[in-house]
Amino acid sequence: MTDLPAALRGELAERVPYSTLRLEREARSKDGTVKALFATADGRPVEAVLMRYRDGRRSLCLSSQSGCPLTCTFCATGQMRFGRNLSAAEILDQALHFRRAERVDHCVFMGMGEPMMNVESVLAACERLPDLGIAHRRTAVSTVGWVPGIDRLAECPMPLRLALSLHAPDDALRSELMPVNDRHPIAAVLAACERHHARHRRRVFVEYVMLAGVNDRVEQAMALARVLDPRVYKVNLIPYNPTGAGFTGSSRRAIYAFRAAVEAGGLRATVRLTRGRDIDAACGQLAANTPSPQRVEGMGNKGSDTGQNSTYEGFAVL
Ligand code: SAH
Repeated sequence: MTDLPAALRGELAERVPYSTLRLEREARSKDGTVKALFATADGRPVEAVLMRYRDGRRSLCLSSQSGCPLTCTFCATGQMRFGRNLSAAEILDQALHFRRAERVDHCVFMGMGEPMMNVESVLAACERLPDLGIAHRRTAVSTVGWVPGIDRLAECPMPLRLALSLHAPDDALRSELMPVNDRHPIAAVLAACERHHARHRRRVFVEYVMLAGVNDRVEQAMALARVLDPRVYKVNLIPYNPTGAGFTGSSRRAIYAFRAAVEAGGLRATVRLTRGRDIDAACGQLAANTPSPQRVEGMGNKGSDTGQNSTYEGFAVL
């Protein structure tokens, strides 16, 4: 655009910035996952992830807040300082960053933050995602169970997928793992999810992170199957990604025994494929940490081999 006068170019750049986000760093996993760390104009960190699957799917994981005000004990984002809600433009600019380089077709709001506490900006961003190639039916919004946000999503006409991070079958354990449960206990959250299902007729995905000796016993799987209506819910078991919080991930054997017990209770259940663990890009690992130098793109990319990615089959297809 050098045919425009420099002063006008300067003014345009200031008034109509190319992006609301500045790219700070990008890290690439050996499984093809890319994590981008951005800064907002006021210097808040924001992370977003692109996951590439062998079947050709390209799925974005977007953040709705910088940091998170909730303090789920197993999640790295909950341990960092909460910044603020992101604007719809800041959410869309995460997606545009990846879309400029390649086609994308799925989106999950499973990055930093609680989307339902910033629901208007999330919905405004979702309105525009089809322009980037991501249909509403291929967009999922994940929540800790923030009831007013679930109700807002239910009344919105876009056919977005609702995902609920449940992680425990009873209130006592859930409150220990996720203090937000004291405010929105399981019965109230499930009632809200069921209202969403009644309106949209789309299966609600229950996310359940597998913590050894905490929530992975077969009796807990049976209890889960008792509280979840199989006509409404499908369960995704998430292998725990280390965050330094003192938990240990369940063994493969425990995960598959748990899945079998959930399925025996009549529910569909899959084990989520873990992506990007070697660059701290997996679920619950987004905390705007500085990646170690060998993880940064163009510096050798010798991320540690966790050996995990090939051991889990089946992904959460939206
Ligand atoms: N606040 C929303 C959106 C974040 S989604 C929510 O909680 O749903 C991030 C998902 O990853 C949630 O299901 C969350 O519970 C899960 N998660 C958090 N920490 C994790 C960890 N260490 N390992 C695996 N999954 C984790």
